[in-house]
Amino acid sequence: MTPLFYLKTFGCQMNKHDSDSVSQILLNEGYRQSEIAEDAQIILINTCAVRKKAEDKALTLIGRLASLKQKNPDIIMGVLGCVAQNQGVDLLRRFPHLDLVIGPRNIHHIDKLKTRNRKEKNMVSCLDWTDNICLFPKYNGYLKGKVTCFLKVMEGCDNFCSYCIVPFVRGRETSLPATIILDRAHQLIREGIREIILIGQNVNSYNVKNKAKPSFAGLLRALDGISGLQRLRFTTSHPKDLSDELIGLFGELKTLCPHIHLPVQSGSDAVLRRMSRGYTVEHYMTLIEKLRTTRPDIAVSSDMIVGFPGETDEDFQESLSLVDELRFDNLFSFRYSDRRGTKATGFPNKVGEREKQERLSLLQERQARITLAKNKSLEGTVQTVLVEGPAKHGGEQRSGRTGGNKVVNFASNTSLTGALVRIKVIKGFQNSLFGEFSGPESHSVE
Ligand code: SAM
Ligand code: SF4
Repeated sequence: MTPLFYLKTFGCQMNKHDSDSVSQILLNEGYRQSEIAEDAQIILINTCAVRKKAEDKALTLIGRLASLKQKNPDIIMGVLGCVAQNQGVDLLRRFPHLDLVIGPRNIHHIDKLKTRNRKEKNMVSCLDWTDNICLFPKYNGYLKGKVTCFLKVMEGCDNFCSYCIVPFVRGRETSLPATIILDRAHQLIREGIREIILIGQNVNSYNVKNKAKPSFAGLLRALDGISGLQRLRFTTSHPKDLSDELIGLFGELKTLCPHIHLPVQSGSDAVLRRMSRGYTVEHYMTLIEKLRTTRPDIAVSSDMIVGFPGETDEDFQESLSLVDELRFDNLFSFRYSDRRGTKATGFPNKVGEREKQERLSLLQERQARITLAKNKSLEGTVQTVLVEGPAKHGGEQRSGRTGGNKVVNFASNTSLTGALVRIKVIKGFQNSLFGEFSGPESHSVE
């Protein structure tokens, strides 16, 4: 009988990319993926430590899984990712049912580590700070039916924003060689992928530290020239590293989608300074103006933290005003949480949990109105949409995304997966658009 593995992923796109790599390694070893932990011989949890909430959820799940190990001691149980890196052997002490603890830079050793665990009949941890991060295993059909795919261009971060745990758990910034990225992009396209999303914690500082070529702009130019690639996106960019050259590419490259995720974090200069972000609100606003001048239809999304230590009511009002002024297409907002080892953990004047929640609700209400208004303003327009597959709620509806990264559902009795189509927007909702098919932009790949 084919052995099964179960893999639960918490957190960001980087974690999803890492989980895809782990899944491919196990599939190549002859395992099959199961959606049910109880059925699996290997159970893995890929964890996120960026905010307390995600970490707590992962720890609760790890605790709950102890009963499965009691029932069947032959199961291999492992924790991967940022919580694994951060808590290391403490996790093995706290959860004696665990077999493996593997940090984000070592997940591609999953096959060797699980074999070692069986041979030595002992818990195994692997938390080395290796720069060997080329997590590009063979696909073996893994991408079948997929249209869009993440492609990692760098690992780690050197910015040390005062609230952020990433540099401590993913290590120093390491850019992957461009030849490897380009080879992988060619492979992805041969496998049927039409849209590539370059990912890294700070993609626009790609190759800066090691003074290597190409720059991030050069990498985008090279990717844009690959035949068969229809769309190119990247995330996340840091405002302090967003060059005029990179902004200019939004008006130049045919595959680069009119969307940028540019986290601002706060609308108050005093808070930005204490966050060690390296830019002012004015600089951020200038960047948005330049982006909108270069590409008037560009969609901008951002991240904000509320309740950072010392954030006053006035600081928070400045964040609200910035949101009103810049009118983001989308905003991901979070309550600040202390992360072990970060500078902000020791900052005075912590904001109370109730205050943080109230500020978060106010900010989210404000943004929800803007997002809805932006989506409604697209009613009557015709958008180019890359069709990704059946809509979530089923029926005969298909789903895809506009260049501005908005989800569009529309009725169709043919698959159209992988095709660029023209959709007339009928209705703008809070989280998606509904439209009708008004013709192909290119041929379907199916
Ligand atoms: N590299 C990206 C950047 O520079 O903006 C973001 C990476 S971080 C994994 C994703 C988001 O989580 C951040 O933009 C920030 O808004 C949020 N975040 C990070 N640390 C946080 C903390 N301690 N409390 C609350 N939110 C946090
Ligand atoms: Fe964290 Fe700042 Fe690095 Fe983003 S740039 S990953 S927020 S330290």
